[in-house]
This record gives sequence, C-alpha cells and structure tokens, in this order.
Amino acid sequence: MKTLIVDDNFVARRFLKDALISFGDCDVVTNGNEAVQAFRLAWEDHEPYDLICMDIMMPEMDGHEALQKIRTIEETMGIALTSKEVKVIMISALDDPKNVVGAYAKGGATEYAVKPIGKDTLVEKIKAMGLLACASPP
Ligand SMILES: [Mg+2]
Repeated sequence: MKTLIVDDNFVARRFLKDALISFGDCDVVTNGNEAVQAFRLAWEDHEPYDLICMDIMMPEMDGHEALQKIRTIEETMGIALTSKEVKVIMISALDDPKNVVGAYAKGGATEYAVKPIGKDTLVEKIKAMGLLACASPP
C-alpha cells in the first residue's frame, strides 16, 4: 500500500507515518498544493497512491480544494469512479455536518475521521476500504 500523508501539523504527520509505514511506502507533505503535486508525480512515475490521508484545515490550499483537484485530474485521466481511483480519508478536527457532507458529496472522500484518531481506528477504516488485503501485517 502506497500512502500520501497531507497535514500542516508536524505531530499529526508523524503520528500518521508511524501508524502506516509498516504497510508500505508513505510520502508526507504539508499542504494541498503539495498534495496535488505529489499525486501527479506518482502517476507520472506509474506508481500512484492507494491511499491519501488528508487534513482539511491547511494553509495555501485546504483539503477540500486539494481533493477536488485530485478528483478532477482522475476524471481527465478517465479513471474516475473506477477501482484505480485513489481512496481518500479526510482527517480533521472539524466534526460539523457541513464539513462531513462536503467531504463526501462534493469532494469525493472515501472516508472521514475526526481527530484525535487512534491507530486501531485508522487501520480498521483502511481495512474496511479493502486496502490492506494484500499488504503485509505490521
Ligand atoms: Mg491542519
């Protein structure tokens, strides 16, 4: 499993990397701009991400906007709504319905998690998305 971790907070980035590194490669970026850039580069290298863990509140470009751009890129590549579409967990301290509904409906998030999130909860969500079936256990 190849993961892209997107968060402007160092502690959050370190937690996610510690939780997910045993399942495969983890790239770490700090805002939405970098996330879109990393997503493009991974496809250009023919090694796309299986999972993106995306924070919502970030400087420069927030998680909603980055997710929309990533889904638009997938549409232009013709992989939108196929199994090749990247799975995205929006992880944020925001738990109000507007942001949850926005992440699912508008941005096309696969899952949503509210901070603080424990490692077990995170791994369960990823399993529920069918991502860890072929990954080696931690
Ligand atoms: Mg943030």
